[in-house]
Amino acid sequence: MSSTNMNLLTITTSILFCWMFFIILMERLFPYRKGLKFFREGFWVDLVWYTIIQSYFLKILIFDYIIQPINHSFDWSAYQFVKHWSVPVQVLFFLITHDFYIYWFHRFQHANKFLWRTHEAHHSGKEVDFLEGSRSHAVEIIINQTIEFLPIIVLGADPAVLPIKALLDAVFGMFIHANIDVKMGKWKYIFNSPELHLWHHANYQEVFHANFSTKFAFWDYLFGTAYFPGHKPGNERENWGLYYDFPKDYFLQHAFSIKRFDEKKLLRYKWFAWYYNLRPNILKKITHWIEDLEHSFMVENSSMTYRRTEQQENKEKNESYNHHSEHIK
Ligand SMILES: [Zn+2]
Ligand SMILES: [Zn+2]
Repeated sequence: MSSTNMNLLTITTSILFCWMFFIILMERLFPYRKGLKFFREGFWVDLVWYTIIQSYFLKILIFDYIIQPINHSFDWSAYQFVKHWSVPVQVLFFLITHDFYIYWFHRFQHANKFLWRTHEAHHSGKEVDFLEGSRSHAVEIIINQTIEFLPIIVLGADPAVLPIKALLDAVFGMFIHANIDVKMGKWKYIFNSPELHLWHHANYQEVFHANFSTKFAFWDYLFGTAYFPGHKPGNERENWGLYYDFPKDYFLQHAFSIKRFDEKKLLRYKWFAWYYNLRPNILKKITHWIEDLEHSFMVENSSMTYRRTEQQENKEKNESYNHHSEHIK
């Protein structure tokens, strides 16, 4: 990787982290749904499995094993019409064309039984926040990111386009899922926001085939799928996520997309019960361990305060003695 690209990656990563902290702060200050915890249901699955582990492996699969071999097998030089455009124009071109594609693919996922299996995981969360956007089935990511990044590579776009595009994906992904009470006003016709996308995650019949946009909201207004009733969905569990039971574990979520099963019935098998309880047990152990650590820290702290008070008392005694003796002199 060239040093310019390295610098750009440092800049985009820094912007992303600043944006994430800003979104988290706004979620605490102006929540769309009140009472949603930071460590909400599914937080660790979304962070550890979807955001970190799945992203890491799928990035290698998509770029090294799908995009690069395709790029090397064909001569695309005749089609590299974007090459002479400026970087902002290239970014805008890929942003709009990809957003148009993703609107239709997303709409198709809601209409087609087979494709719904690759998308339902994204809708499974009952507590939606900035991290919810990361919960996407591996197949959905492979299809969408190949279609997103392959043209950027084969059409010979500037190397800066890729990290900028990836940054915009993450920025919008966090924003539209954030539990923030944003009032977009007239901007809601142009940019997607929690106002529209949180409705898409609500469990209501009337919105199941609506609000498909990702970045630009005008696709929904243009193709007649915008749903904006002017009030919020209910704050109960049944008002959010899927209308049917869905596994909470990363691997079981993927298995469920291939073959339906009833977790409660499978619990009679020892191996399943062991696996099913593994993650909650580990989390419970970590929580106990943190609590123990906190407790011992508090005990240590209070004994330190005690020691300090004792020392301070002695010091004060000495000082007053000195003062007194000075006075006598
Ligand atoms: Zn959807
Ligand atoms: Zn979403």
